[in-house]
Amino acid sequence: ELRLHYQPVVNLATGYMVGMEALVRWEHPQRGLVAPGEFIPLAEETGLIVPIGEWVLRAACEQNRKWQQQGYGPLRVSVNLSPRQFTAGLVGLVARVLQETGLPAQLLELEITEGMVMQNPDQAVRLLNELHDMGIALSIDDFGTGYSSLAYLKRFPIDSLKIDRSFITELPMDSDNAAIIRAIIQMAHGLEIHVVGEGVETAEQAGFLSDQACDRVQGFHYSKPLPHFEFESLINTFPLHSKLLSHRMASVE
Ligand code: C2E
Ligand code: MG
Ligand code: MG
Repeated sequence: ELRLHYQPVVNLATGYMVGMEALVRWEHPQRGLVAPGEFIPLAEETGLIVPIGEWVLRAACEQNRKWQQQGYGPLRVSVNLSPRQFTAGLVGLVARVLQETGLPAQLLELEITEGMVMQNPDQAVRLLNELHDMGIALSIDDFGTGYSSLAYLKRFPIDSLKIDRSFITELPMDSDNAAIIRAIIQMAHGLEIHVVGEGVETAEQAGFLSDQACDRVQGFHYSKPLPHFEFESLINTFPLHSKLLSHRMASVE
């Protein structure tokens, strides 16, 4: 009864779709589609999140491998991790899933939260380095809402920070949030970390983020998370690197 929906991640400068975030849903026979906010906390409490998380990882990698084989690539799929999954066993699991599904490590991103890494920073640095060495991209989700040590940010091999939707919602009118976002982007770029704006709902918000040189965006302005078959139709409406390449090939011919 678990399903994945996919939300596009768009390169703000080019307008290209560069990847998608996999978001789990529970298709309950009576209750219909249940959002993760309603069952993930319980799954975390009971430990069920471990098998659920493993299913999500495998399903997302399998699907992205299919899209890659169908010529839609290279798109990078992001998978959310829960604190319970962030253990020494994670590296082996990810390696196994990549091998079984045949997805190149470069096309997988794992999203962690500030809390997960700050609980045990030394172990987190080791784990993140191992994943990074495999070629997997790592991002910090909901950035700005938890406790982070800026010193650790420097030590973690992080590809991107995802600015929490709560900072984006009131843009560009809210000058406090605008100031926070500007500062996050400047700091991240100084550390050679990309920035993703989450929850972009309007052209004004996208414009503000673009002016601040934010790298990537996600949000209803581009698309809601969609089941895989609808996501495929959406891919066809977006500029993609693969399309550009085939266009170039065609013009060479
Ligand atoms: P998240 O990882 O920060 O995911 C972004 C959430 O924001 C998604 O909610 C998405 O549908 C929503 N969103 C995206 N753009 C917009 C927008 O423009 N406006 C608004 N109002 N919302 C937007 P969703 O799918 O309900 O997921 C909620 C949270 O549940 C996720 O937050 C993530 O923390 C967790 N989650 C989802 N799937 C998984 C999973 O497979 N494993 C784990 N551990 N957690 C998951
Ligand atoms: Mg996320
Ligand atoms: Mg988030």
